[in-house]
Amino acid sequence: MKNKHKTTHILITNDDGVHAPGILALQSALRRVPNTSVTIMAPAENQSAVGHRKTMHKPLRVNPVTLSDGNTAFACSGSPADAIALALMGFVNDPVDIIVSGINQGPNLGQDITYSGTVTAAMEAALFGIPAIAMSFDSFTEQTFEEAAAVAVKLVPVVLEKGLPDLTLLNVNVPCAGIKGIRLTRQGRRHYHDVLIERIDPFGRPYYWIGGEQPTGDIDEVGTDVWAIANDYVSITPIRLEMTARNFMPEIEEWHLENLEI
Ligand code: MN
Repeated sequence: MKNKHKTTHILITNDDGVHAPGILALQSALRRVPNTSVTIMAPAENQSAVGHRKTMHKPLRVNPVTLSDGNTAFACSGSPADAIALALMGFVNDPVDIIVSGINQGPNLGQDITYSGTVTAAMEAALFGIPAIAMSFDSFTEQTFEEAAAVAVKLVPVVLEKGLPDLTLLNVNVPCAGIKGIRLTRQGRRHYHDVLIERIDPFGRPYYWIGGEQPTGDIDEVGTDVWAIANDYVSITPIRLEMTARNFMPEIEEWHLENLEI
């Protein structure tokens, strides 16, 4: 097995903020793996649903913080992807073997992944050529992250041994009500139920909220991530950053866009 004679260096991040309980459970479990060292670099504040945001027009700040179990972490001012870039571009001296992002409070299924700071942090790692796992827990309220952390402990050595292809990461979701097993899945179809709410501020100007009920999904599509979680399976989906719609190519070729007069 790779890394047999050296310490495995795991970089942990999380979009729920450096003090989130999901990060605490994950780092605690991974620190117990023999010959493992852990570095934590995560946004200081909750950055859920910021997507693959890159901070370009203001400086990034990094501060060491002490977690509630006494371990140290780095809190940064940017997005989860900024946290990964900061760490990999030189803030962290020791080479990173693998990145685990999470454990997120709430699932990241289907089309959630483009919103998700948890998954986009793993995407940033994939851009750097570092194997990455995004871990999410299927509850917005329950803080029992131990089973999900145990999944990460089992998965990390496999990914280290096998490696991941170029521009590829693993998106892992863990059910809340007990684990029936593990399923390799494809992305399913999410349905969002947000509504636009207009209100008036004290100065008479309108302002807006976009929000609503939690998303649902096509849970009857067997083999998808939404199906797996709905049936209490751990869902593992390999995700690529090469997002060309190959199944649409034959049809759009018939549009002959190359003949548009410009
Ligand atoms: Mn989050």
